[in-house]
Amino acid sequence: MNAPSPFFPATDDPRIRLRILSLGAGVQSTTLALMAAHGIVGPMPDCAIFADTGWEPRAVYEHLDWLMSPNVLPFPVHIVSAGNIRDDLARATQGGRWASIPAFTRAEQRGKAQIGMIRRQCTKEYKIVPIRRKVRELAGLTRRRSPDHAVVEQWIGISADEVLRMKPSFECWQVNRWPLVERHMSRQDCLAWLQRHGYPEPPKSSCVGCPFHSDAMWRAMRDEDAEAWADAVQVDRMIRTGLRGVRGEVYLHRQAVPLDRADLSTAADHGQLDLWGNECEGMCGV
Ligand code: SF4
Repeated sequence: MNAPSPFFPATDDPRIRLRILSLGAGVQSTTLALMAAHGIVGPMPDCAIFADTGWEPRAVYEHLDWLMSPNVLPFPVHIVSAGNIRDDLARATQGGRWASIPAFTRAEQRGKAQIGMIRRQCTKEYKIVPIRRKVRELAGLTRRRSPDHAVVEQWIGISADEVLRMKPSFECWQVNRWPLVERHMSRQDCLAWLQRHGYPEPPKSSCVGCPFHSDAMWRAMRDEDAEAWADAVQVDRMIRTGLRGVRGEVYLHRQAVPLDRADLSTAADHGQLDLWGNECEGMCGV
């Protein structure tokens, strides 16, 4: 018998008493939820959990409403929240406490501009912690000692083209599972599956002003979602100074220039790393 792998846990452990799907309401987690609804991936999850940062584009909330409407998913979707990340950023510019987003900084050092990136705390604060709290509540573990074996299986919608984002659970009472990777499904395969089954293409999910956006993502926002773009430009201006513990000026775009002045031409994409690749534990952007 093969040794159990932290990346491909047994799916039939009778001690698992709760299966939850971490729903980001993007392409991959939507596909996973609908494949479960079709009985293609199993056993059927008990529920899905969406962690709301309060700053997703309107299209994501509309898509979530559709997913939660009758006759789409056979299991409930719980929405959890640790506050509104945009409002918290506004407070942070007045010196308040903040869970930092991975924004870019520009500071002068010996006459030269130094560009840096702020350590990211937002995924943990706005997604991992509220989901964990809800999972423990649903599993009857609130204010209880954790069992020394997995009783919860969490499904994460990472696709086969993003395996670097797979991280085993740090909790002994929970095991993570990546059914799309098990099935070798890429993001493109997810889109094809949705299309074959007549489902709408989900929007890209992530905070409106997430500094991890690629230029292609910023461009699409600028050209196709005027409301989100105006909001991101406004927040970018708002966070320039005043954030506690940050030296230099703060920007949402990796060029460390005002967002509405960043070069978003396709030529500027050349050689650009996709920062989602090995970040975000599969909680954001899926
Ligand atoms: S989408 Fe970006 S800003 Fe929002 S929680 Fe994730 S990493 Fe942070």
